[in-house]
Amino acid sequence: MPVTVGVFGAAGRMGSTVCRAVADDPQLELVAAVDPGAAGEPIGTVAGVDAGFEVAGKAEHLDVVPQVMVEFTHLGAARENLAWCAAHGVHAVVGTTGFSDEDVERFRATFTSSNCLIAPNFAIGAILMMRFAELAAPWFETAEVLEFHHDAKVDSPSGTAMRTVERMAAASDDWAPDPTTTEVVDGARGGDGPGHIRIHAIRMRGMVAHQEVVLGTTGQTLSIRHDSYDRSSFMPGVVLAAKRIADHPGVVVGLDAYLDQ
Ligand code: NAP
Repeated sequence: MPVTVGVFGAAGRMGSTVCRAVADDPQLELVAAVDPGAAGEPIGTVAGVDAGFEVAGKAEHLDVVPQVMVEFTHLGAARENLAWCAAHGVHAVVGTTGFSDEDVERFRATFTSSNCLIAPNFAIGAILMMRFAELAAPWFETAEVLEFHHDAKVDSPSGTAMRTVERMAAASDDWAPDPTTTEVVDGARGGDGPGHIRIHAIRMRGMVAHQEVVLGTTGQTLSIRHDSYDRSSFMPGVVLAAKRIADHPGVVVGLDAYLDQ
C-alpha cells in the first residue's frame, strides 16, 4: 500500500515541486494539499499533477487526513501546521527553515503519537558532503569552506556551511593557525567559523546552491564539492523521508539519520 501524503504550501516553489515528486513515485500517493492562496483550486492546475482533489485553505478543511504531511511554507505558518500534525497523529516532513531551539523543544513535547523530521537541507549530496568533510577533518591541518548561492540570498554564511564547519571542528581540534598578519581588504580571509575554519560566502547571479570544502596537508589537498542546480535536487531526499518517517520516532533534525537505515 502506498504511503498517503499531503503537502502544506502546495502552490509554492518547493511545495508544487514536492506535489509532482510525490505523484510520480509509485510508493507514495498524493491525497491532500493545503495553501491558503490557492484554496478551492484543483491540484492539477496548481501543481500540474494528475490528481482529482482541490487545495484546502487550511488543514482543518481537509477531506482526507494523510499519513504524512510535507511542509514547505513560512516560519509562522509552519509552527501552526506542525501543531496540527502533532494533534492529529500525522507524520511531518519539514523543509521550512528558521526554527529556533525553543521551537524544536516544543515539537519534541508535542509529537507523541507521530514523528517529525526537520531537514534544513534535503539534497542528499549535501548531506554526504558534510559527512565526508567530517570524516576527512582529522587527516588535514588546514581547511576552508566556500559556499556559493544565488544573488537573492540575504543571509550569510549558509546554514549548510555553518553546519559543515561545526561538524569538522567537532571532529578535529588540530587546525593550523591562520598565518595572515596583514589584511589589506577587510574580510579578505572570509569569516572566522567554528574551530577558526574560514568560510567564504559568494553571491552570484546564475547560481543556485553550491559548496566546496577544501582541506590541505603536506603536499596534497582534497576538495569536496556539491552543486544544487535546481529544486529537483531536494526531491529524492523529500521522497525518501516520506517513505521512512514512520520508522524514525520522535523529532529528528537533519536528514543524516535517514540515510543509514
Ligand atoms: P514559497 O514559494 O513562498 O512557498 C510557500 C508557500 O506556502 C506559498 O504558496 C504560501 O502562500 C504558502 N503558505 C503560506 N501560509 C501557509 C499555510 N498556513 N499553510 C499552507 N501554505 C501556506 O517558498 P519556497 O521557496 O517554496 O520555500 C519554502 C520554505 O522552504 C522556506 O522556508 C525555504 O527556506 C525552505 N527551503 C528548504 C529547503 C530544504 O532543503 N529544506 C530547500 C529550499 C527551500 P502565500 O504565498 O500566499 O503566502
